[in-house]
Amino acid sequence: MYTPEQKLKDFVQSLPKTETHLHLEGSCPIELIRDASPGQFDHDPPMWSDDFRYDSFDQFMEMYDHFCASAFVSAEVYHKCAKIVLQKCADQNVKYVETSFHVGTLIGGDINGEEIVDAVLSAAPEGMEVRVFMGMCHNDYVGLGKKIIDDCIYWDKLTGIDLHGPEYWPLEPWTAKVWKSAADAGKFLKAHAGEFMPASFVRRCIEELGVRRIQHGVRCIEDPEVVALIKDLDVTLDVCPISNVKLQVEGITKMSEHPIRELFDAGVRCTINSDDPFMFGNSLSEEYYALATDLHFTEKELKKIAQNGFDIAIN
Ligand SMILES: [Zn+2]
Repeated sequence: MYTPEQKLKDFVQSLPKTETHLHLEGSCPIELIRDASPGQFDHDPPMWSDDFRYDSFDQFMEMYDHFCASAFVSAEVYHKCAKIVLQKCADQNVKYVETSFHVGTLIGGDINGEEIVDAVLSAAPEGMEVRVFMGMCHNDYVGLGKKIIDDCIYWDKLTGIDLHGPEYWPLEPWTAKVWKSAADAGKFLKAHAGEFMPASFVRRCIEELGVRRIQHGVRCIEDPEVVALIKDLDVTLDVCPISNVKLQVEGITKMSEHPIRELFDAGVRCTINSDDPFMFGNSLSEEYYALATDLHFTEKELKKIAQNGFDIAIN
């Protein structure tokens, strides 16, 4: 019998899709984690179970450090990671990917940033377009971090920069200057906002950093004026619903309460993405299933969400 579940799966598989919010380190395939620390991670991690919830973003960071951080010691590891992660995307009929790596691995280790960009780009399967961003935390602009961040703006193959990490850390004055220099140098700008901080932080990233691609942004729903600003300035939200539920983002206790339904209905351009598949045990296809099952997105609406990713794709 052709069940509704199978029909949904076939539809999602047949839909050409994009991933525009995907952190490489948080997507690390478990085989690479096991290779880096033999014998230490033989069991599947607890975060993969559907009912797992993080208590806080700090706990997420601790778990990330525990599992993933030690694996990324060379550009070769990034290549191996990207090869597996991007192939998984291709298997789900993803045609366009924007992925990021964290400046912290360059600060702490002896790795060259441009080599990482090359390592990731050369891992792209045939027929897939890949863009690479470097992500940085609010407090990374010190010492070697400052030098790398200033330099990366001139790395040819780096598409852009992304502000990530704990959102509640203060937004330091260097950020607006660096974001401006990056834009002047032709780099593309993103920032994580409206995940743990309220709508006012989304506004700051749009107005002070000049960002038109907000990562998450879901808490903008708390302020109709910020929703209006997003629409006026043609800002896109790269939303990660399963990540939001597992991290218990303010106001979201289960998928059926996720504001992407309301944002979509209000005419805000949203994409859906998997964020950190290792840390959430999710896949992009499951994000589509969740929207259909828990938020009653029709096939036509899912098609629109997928198309949004192609509409904002960077040449
Ligand atoms: Zn993210």
